[in-house]
Amino acid sequence: MNLILLGAPGAGKGTQAKFIAEKYGIPQVSTGDILREAVAKGTELGRKAKEFMNQGKLVPDEIVIGIVKERLTQKDCEKGFILDGFPRTIAQAEALDKIMGEMGKEIDAVINVNVPEEEVVKRIVNRRICKKCGAIYHLIHNPPKKNGVCDKCGGELYQRDDDREEVVRERFAVYKRSTQPLIDYYKKKGILYDVDGTKDVEAVRSEILSILGKIKA
Ligand code: AMP
Repeated sequence: MNLILLGAPGAGKGTQAKFIAEKYGIPQVSTGDILREAVAKGTELGRKAKEFMNQGKLVPDEIVIGIVKERLTQKDCEKGFILDGFPRTIAQAEALDKIMGEMGKEIDAVINVNVPEEEVVKRIVNRRICKKCGAIYHLIHNPPKKNGVCDKCGGELYQRDDDREEVVRERFAVYKRSTQPLIDYYKKKGILYDVDGTKDVEAVRSEILSILGKIKA
């Protein structure tokens, strides 16, 4: 099954993508995670991406398209994958169509997780992530048992540099301008499925599972 998770920053894409990846035994391909790892390691890619990311801007299309192309042609993506945070522009979506065509594959479903801006901001500023295993917490709705420590692996929790309110507002504006047009792009292809992302994590999860149960892949 080849899937895309679409939605504003903080809509819950990452949380749901991890769950679906585990459930279906397919890799989660998150361009945000790949870029953050490159920044942390100080690679050439990381050096190029860092400024854009810290300002809440998109990293240039040719850079992320290259990353995705390389990632999707790896062996573990043969059975399927779930794209989280890509595509984010029409140019990226068109490039993805081309990559899929070259591999003789297609996207089976695009899940659009809907959440309004005010809700997104509230979620993101309270978001904390485990440095070690990537588990995602919310200080109010899904707090860790022990302050600053991951329940799952004991790793240290941190706040992303771009999760500060001003940057979040900019990321949302970028989302509206560049990413929202993808909703129509995939609607026209007949593969877009909307879910209400304001519900709690489990409710969103079961909505997604019921959609995936109905599509053929
Ligand atoms: P995310 O973790 O998906 O919210 O991504 C964090 C940041 O990484 C974004 O604000 C962008 O700066 C960059 N990024 C991630 N995915 C993409 C993409 N598909 N296109 C451009 N920039 C991206």
